[in-house]
Amino acid sequence: VRWTARDGWHDARLKPYGPLVLDPATAVFHYAQEFFEGLKAYRQGNGSIVTFRPDANAARFNVTARRMAMPELPEETFVRSLELLVQTDRDWVPTTEGHTLYLRPFMIATQAALGVNHPSDEYLYLVIASPAGSYFTGGVKPVHVWLSQDYTRAAPGGTGFAKCGGNYAGAFVAQREAVENGCDQVVWLDAFEHRYVEEMGGMNIFFVYGDRLVTPPLTGTLLPGITRDSILKLAVDLGLEVTERPITTDEWREACESGAMTEAFACGTAAVITPIGRVSGRDGGWTVADGQPGELTLRLREELVGIQYGTRPDPHDWIHKIL
Ligand code: PMP
Repeated sequence: VRWTARDGWHDARLKPYGPLVLDPATAVFHYAQEFFEGLKAYRQGNGSIVTFRPDANAARFNVTARRMAMPELPEETFVRSLELLVQTDRDWVPTTEGHTLYLRPFMIATQAALGVNHPSDEYLYLVIASPAGSYFTGGVKPVHVWLSQDYTRAAPGGTGFAKCGGNYAGAFVAQREAVENGCDQVVWLDAFEHRYVEEMGGMNIFFVYGDRLVTPPLTGTLLPGITRDSILKLAVDLGLEVTERPITTDEWREACESGAMTEAFACGTAAVITPIGRVSGRDGGWTVADGQPGELTLRLREELVGIQYGTRPDPHDWIHKIL
């Protein structure tokens, strides 16, 4: 769908996958005026094809649009675009549980103009679909995370809460450092002291103290994950106590050493819920409990996956049936 200052959104089309032809001066190439969403279409046991909370993705899409000085997209256009694509690509939705059709809605600034003083007057909203397997190979194998003490993902007033490509462009170097140190993913810390845990490269983070769940608050520098929000609600349903509060890397280490922290996990659309087994950083590392997937981590994962695949009730009306 195209947007111009004169006509607003118009010219919706469903096209076979293929290259885009863009002028070398197109704004997105120079000033990274681009942002995206990520969600999945699931094939349930009874044959239905569904998405999970697409209205939440639509809302976050528009929060990002405002931060990027780009046009908002009506929620019904967002949801309808996904429905049309999934209906067309229905045979591409995998039948194996854990495999999905990944949907990537995104918007780019398409005006060919090198001036940096005002945002583009033309935009293109697109959605692509791609079958996807598990995010981490090995299923619920605990991941080993790397504390990023030299790089910062986001600072107050910046774009941390927005899902713009630029946040990820600046993150590759830290992710590479994580991998060079034998880790799976980077953990971002606050911009000022590199002490407070914020989130991971593509996931939010939760800490478990017995039957209490703790997760960093949405201060504007981390992405408000839809999985994070769903877990906060599921945890309340399960009678767990949940707290959104800052947590330092010192607290994380000490709570693991004393045994007070019983589990830690990462969560996101791609990885669902993945246990964190070990933490490393410049000053050494520690193991979370016995380094194995925790009981609550697995229970919450089962609950969430069960809702997505239709094997558990959906009390919050999160499932959006497409076919
Ligand atoms: N943080 C970051 C940086 C991410 O890229 C993602 C994935 N979108 C998440 C958190 C988790 O968000 P969600 O649960 O909406 O997928």
